[in-house]
Amino acid sequence: MTDEHNTEPLKRAAQLILKDEIRHLQLVPSVALKLLKLTNDDNAKIENLSRIIETEPVLAAKILKQVNSAAYALPNKTTSLNRAVTILGFSTVRQLALTLLFYNKLIQQKTPQRFDLLLFWQHCLYVASLSRRIAVALKHPDPDLIYTGGLLHDIGKIVFESYGRLTYSDFIDSMDKSGRSTLEEERRFFGLTHSEMGHVFCLEWQLPTSIMAIVAYHHNQPTDTSHCSQYKTEIAIVSFANYIAWIQGIGSATYDSHPTLQSAVLATINIDQIDLEVILRQVDEDMQSTREFYNIQIPGLTTLRATLVKATINMSQINTDPPSSSNHSSNKVPSSCLTAPHHSLNTSEFIPRTLEAIHEKFSFDRSIMFMIDPKRRCLVASYWWPKSIIPNKNQSFEIDIKVISGLLLTCLREKKAVIINNKLEPDNPILRHLKTNEFITIPVLHHNHLAGVLYADNPLSKKAMRPQFLIDITPIAYELGVAMFNAKKYDLEKKHAQIDHLTQLFNKRMANNFLMPIFQGDKSKLKNIAIGFIDIDKFKLFNDDCGHQAGDNALKIVADILRSLTRPGDFIGRYGGEEFLFVLKNTDEKGAYGYAERIRSEIERRGRIMSQRFQGHLLTVSIGVSMYSKHFTTYNEMIEVADQAMYRAKNEGRNRIVILPGMTSDKK
Ligand code: GH3
Ligand code: MG
Ligand code: MG
Repeated sequence: MTDEHNTEPLKRAAQLILKDEIRHLQLVPSVALKLLKLTNDDNAKIENLSRIIETEPVLAAKILKQVNSAAYALPNKTTSLNRAVTILGFSTVRQLALTLLFYNKLIQQKTPQRFDLLLFWQHCLYVASLSRRIAVALKHPDPDLIYTGGLLHDIGKIVFESYGRLTYSDFIDSMDKSGRSTLEEERRFFGLTHSEMGHVFCLEWQLPTSIMAIVAYHHNQPTDTSHCSQYKTEIAIVSFANYIAWIQGIGSATYDSHPTLQSAVLATINIDQIDLEVILRQVDEDMQSTREFYNIQIPGLTTLRATLVKATINMSQINTDPPSSSNHSSNKVPSSCLTAPHHSLNTSEFIPRTLEAIHEKFSFDRSIMFMIDPKRRCLVASYWWPKSIIPNKNQSFEIDIKVISGLLLTCLREKKAVIINNKLEPDNPILRHLKTNEFITIPVLHHNHLAGVLYADNPLSKKAMRPQFLIDITPIAYELGVAMFNAKKYDLEKKHAQIDHLTQLFNKRMANNFLMPIFQGDKSKLKNIAIGFIDIDKFKLFNDDCGHQAGDNALKIVADILRSLTRPGDFIGRYGGEEFLFVLKNTDEKGAYGYAERIRSEIERRGRIMSQRFQGHLLTVSIGVSMYSKHFTTYNEMIEVADQAMYRAKNEGRNRIVILPGMTSDKK
């Protein structure tokens, strides 16, 4: 974004792109604008809300219908909007009204376009509802605001589509497989990204700053100096919800590149406080009731996901072997229990649940998920159903890929589902090992890479395996692959958000995560806690003389030393620039001093060895340590004292350790 305090260039750029001047746009109905500006703490809020809704008769009728529906079991029908608002609650009514207005005015598309408004709408509703749920879980004071922000976060796309000289559909048509992010592509095509266009739109329509901040910054968190930084939490919640929506397959368009989970988002909100699984389930329920209330013909999420699965399968032309005689059922949408994995991002949760669902639906005696271990080149039985089938839980069951031949090899190589029995392969070692006459395997793919295979057999009932099973289970295996990919990606992004890229140490957020439970827990354990800062001396000079690259290398060297000298249960992380933070447990002042001195002297020693490469510069650090005492009530106070100790070490000549309260050392 250009200079964020000066939005004029942004506005001018927007005007060039749009057909008319932006203020002529009738994008948002005036009623919706009024609703948006109506804040939750408005004194006369109920009356105001009713008055606004009354001006839109269809809306009023809808809301009354809802209040009078069986769900509320009122003894008498109410015709008063005031009463309706009292019964349903201010926030529900405002939310319903806004959503309905936006839907009516924006989403109805006469002819199908490349930019599918219904899909887009589904995404917005999903992000809105998920954001709201997350806000509630995080005890945010105004979840309604977050809902509205979620609903509008991608409004820039609609502005392009409805009023652009080139529309968003044109943009989608122009996309090549460049691998660039959607934002980069938008800038290349329009000159502005959808979040910038949304920003202009919010400015022109004088939407509340909080909403504008969410729209403008949901893809890049504002800096601390930005005028929107006060809405960091709100922005982070919607960004996170947007990310989750995408990995659930509920993106705003099918062409799009995945948004990344920005580490700033995770630094702002503590996702460990959120039970995502519960929330995702609630959001699915929200979506269901939204559909019912508005009578909006959007496909259910399960259908949507299943359709996505089906479409992809059709495209990738699944092979079933032997060929099936009846094709009609390949169009069957998997039932919801079988597409359950999307509720979770935890493999050890959703894989067993999927196996259970397969077990119930197809009545196989056993089903097993074999994962590929690419390093050891084997298939490992990782999950099974029922639980009792692998008699010795401690003994893992693995199949070395080297010994695999015949149809199972076909399954792995050609990614084909197969039936294997002792008529076809009398010598198959797996038949023998698993004491069965017949089994099926269906490949589980991540982006066309084999992640594992689903296995099922009937050694007890001896029921024959039908080719139709392969056709029916393939979509489930596909969904499982997607869910596994998402879970892995989520873990990876989570890890990225916790680790400093340059040094591979934990970042500042993780320092807080480490300290928080210590200070919330048993106070007696605090007694021997030490927190310290390590700051490289004269590092600016070092960079100026040796170059930034040498500076980066020095940071990595320091990080390696810190890593090697820190005990596993203690914490070491990069706190910022050339500053590191450690937390020692069960350590008295003498112990803390010993640790700090080992670090100080080792860095000095290593610096001396490298000094020729560093143009004669020394590599030394100043260390400030704060020892716990009962005067401290929060860890931030201890961090503050460690910081003061570090500055004292600087003032006293650098390359030394200061411990507060307590001993000071001169360099050895
Ligand atoms: P002092 O001894 O008082 O700490 O002096 P200093 O120069 O180390 O402190 P100051 O805070 O003035 O400068 C810190 C320098 O650290 C500035 C910046 O160039 C450098 N720095 C911060 N982060 C990085 C990084 O990631 N890579 C490199 N190469 N340098 C960094
Ligand atoms: Mg989005
Ligand atoms: Mg420094």
